[in-house]
Amino acid sequence: MTALVLDGKSAAARAKEQLRSRVAALPQAPNLVVVQVAGDPAADRYVKAIGRCCGEVGVGYSLSVLPVDVRTARVEEIIRDLSADPNVHGIIIQMPLPKHIDSTAVIACLDPRKDVDGIHPINAGRLANGTPTLVPATPAGGMALLREYGIAVAGKSAIVVGRSAVVGRPMAWLLLQADATVTIAHSRTQDLAALIRQADIVVAAIGKPRFITRDMLKPGAVVVDFGINLDAEGTLCGDVDTANVLDHVSAITPVPGGTGPMTNVQLLENLLTAIRL
Ligand code: NDP
Repeated sequence: MTALVLDGKSAAARAKEQLRSRVAALPQAPNLVVVQVAGDPAADRYVKAIGRCCGEVGVGYSLSVLPVDVRTARVEEIIRDLSADPNVHGIIIQMPLPKHIDSTAVIACLDPRKDVDGIHPINAGRLANGTPTLVPATPAGGMALLREYGIAVAGKSAIVVGRSAVVGRPMAWLLLQADATVTIAHSRTQDLAALIRQADIVVAAIGKPRFITRDMLKPGAVVVDFGINLDAEGTLCGDVDTANVLDHVSAITPVPGGTGPMTNVQLLENLLTAIRL
C-alpha cells in the first residue's frame, strides 16, 4: 500500500484562489486585526504568514504588537475597542499570551462575532453543541483537507490524541459532527497504542516529534498530523513517524505541507463568515 499524501499546500492554493474571487465580489474588503504580545519568535513567523495570506486574497490586515510587559487591563481595553470598531471584521489574539496576562479575561472581551479563531467560550460552546459557529482554524483546516480528498468520516472510528482548546478538542467535535465515533486521548490515557491501533482515523495533536509510530497504527488508517515540531537535529516534523508509515496507512497529511497551510485559509474563510454575523 502507498499512502495518499494529502497535499495541504495545493489545496490551500486552490482555496485561496476561490477566496480571492469571493473577496473581490464584496462591496468592501473585510479587515483582519492580529493582536500580538512581543517576544515569541515562533509567533512572529505565524503572524507574518497570516499577513501574507491576507495580501494574497485581498483582505485588509493590520498587526498590533504590544510590549512584552503589557498588563492584562491594557490588552482587555484594546480587544474591547477592536470589538466595537465597525471597520474591524475579524480579530486574532495571538496565543499563547505571556503567563502574566489573564488569557481568559482577555478572550472574554472579544466580540464572539469577530472571533475568527473560534476561541471565545460562546463559539466553543456552540461547537460542542453542534451548532454552526466560528470554529478554530487548525482543526477546521484538517477537516477541509479530508473533504477535499473525499475521505469518508461517517461511521468510522476516530481517535484524537491531544485535547487542547485550539486543536484536539475542537477536532474531536468536528469529527463527531461528521458522524465519526470519537475517542479523545491525552497524556493520562492508558494503553494509548492499543486505542490508536483500533482507529480508522488517527488525529495527532500532541507536539512531540514522530511520537506515533508504525506499530501503533492499524493498516490502512487515515492519519491527520497537526504536529509542528523540531526534532533533535532541528528538522521540522510532525507527531507521526511519516517516513516509516507511508506503506502502511491509506492516507496521511505530511509535515510540512499538510494541515499547516490549511490553517490560514480557514482563518480567512472564518473572516468571510464573520462579516455576515
Ligand atoms: P498543547 O501542548 O496545548 O496540547 C498537547 C496535547 O497533547 C495535550 O492535550 C496533552 O495532554 C497531549 N499529550 C502530550 N503528551 C502526550 C502523550 N505522551 N500521550 C498522549 N497525549 C499527550 O498543544 P497544541 O494542541 O497547541 O498543539 C499540538 C501540536 O499541534 C503542536 O505540535 C503544535 O505546534 C501544533 N499546531 C499546529 C497548528 C497547525 O496549523 N497545523 C496550529 C496549532 C498547533 P494533556 O492535556 O494531558 O496535557
